[in-house]
Amino acid sequence: MAALTSTSPLAGFQRLTIKIGSALLVDARTGKLRAEWLNSLAADIAALKAEGTEVLIVSSGAISLGRRILGLTARNLPLDQIQAAASVGQIALSQAWRDALAEHDVITGQILLTPNITEERRHFINARSTIGTLLALGAVPIINENDSVATSEIRYGDNDRLSARVAAMISSDCLILLSDVDGLYDAPPDTNANANHLPLVKAITPEIEAMAGGAASHLSRGGMTTKIEAGKIATQSGTSMIIAKGTEPHPISAIANGARHTLFTARQSPAAARKRWILGTLDVAGKIHIDAGAAQALARGKSLLPIGVTKVSGDFSRGDAVSIVAPDGTEVARGLAGMNREEADLAKGKQSKVISTMFGELSRTELVHADNLVLLAAGTQTDE
Ligand code: GLU
Repeated sequence: MAALTSTSPLAGFQRLTIKIGSALLVDARTGKLRAEWLNSLAADIAALKAEGTEVLIVSSGAISLGRRILGLTARNLPLDQIQAAASVGQIALSQAWRDALAEHDVITGQILLTPNITEERRHFINARSTIGTLLALGAVPIINENDSVATSEIRYGDNDRLSARVAAMISSDCLILLSDVDGLYDAPPDTNANANHLPLVKAITPEIEAMAGGAASHLSRGGMTTKIEAGKIATQSGTSMIIAKGTEPHPISAIANGARHTLFTARQSPAAARKRWILGTLDVAGKIHIDAGAAQALARGKSLLPIGVTKVSGDFSRGDAVSIVAPDGTEVARGLAGMNREEADLAKGKQSKVISTMFGELSRTELVHADNLVLLAAGTQTDE
């Protein structure tokens, strides 16, 4: 793949989420995996990684692959058979990814998600941490919906929105939706020869939504409407989004080399969006009072460890927002608690190794991980 020169639309992105639709991975006629195409994509991914970009994959294809393996040919299958197909197909899908990326010495990890994981902070905080650890270890997470257990009421149903939730959850700065269309048009391109392609969308306005309504892509589960929904989730969370045609080999280097696509620009950086989310939208469930040493450590970007905690108040669970208060009573930071109130109370003032003996070797020893912490510029006086 060509190096990501400053003129590449992908230059500058550090954490890329790439969503691959079933229509690209699975041949619609034979139901078989498009192995050669997948190998070309794997080469692009390896090249991105070699340049220092972190890559996450959201891959569809489990249901299509499973249908063929099980011989389920009927057009409309009942939900239980779709779920069985997903169960069988997911194994084939993960194997295909593992084999394709192993050719380039890239390690893969599988993550299957359900909506409660990206929507509920208690699960979210775990999933974010596991995916972050995989990336830090140099692996590529391969993500899909856990279709074999999800019920119709609690499904994302399409991987466009799932990929946007994942990108937002993991503070990815760009989401690429590879599909069978090369972007957004102002009219359906299949039926309107005068349809104009939009290279850049700076804001998803009602007009943009109306354009998407008329341009459904027939091959993927999510048409253009779900892609625009994904764009809204992504751009509000600091993730730019690219819709590009992925049908030809080497689809990522094609974008880097100027292939046509639509870029939806993020409204702010992922860090700013996350800060705003932690500070602005979450109710504070408890307070953690810290000593001067801990306040200095936080100012240096460290996690909050129980050793520096003097008092805990309120009633919070792991994942809830907590306010962090310095000895002089000012609120110096806010963050997501890594322990619940009872654990925090037991752990406060104790060394991490003592906590490991109390809660077990595998327990987390940070009360608020640096990744889940927002420092307040000038302390805010609290009422306690
Ligand atoms: N999760 C589904 C699968 O793996 C795909 C959903 C979609 O096509 O968006 O088959």
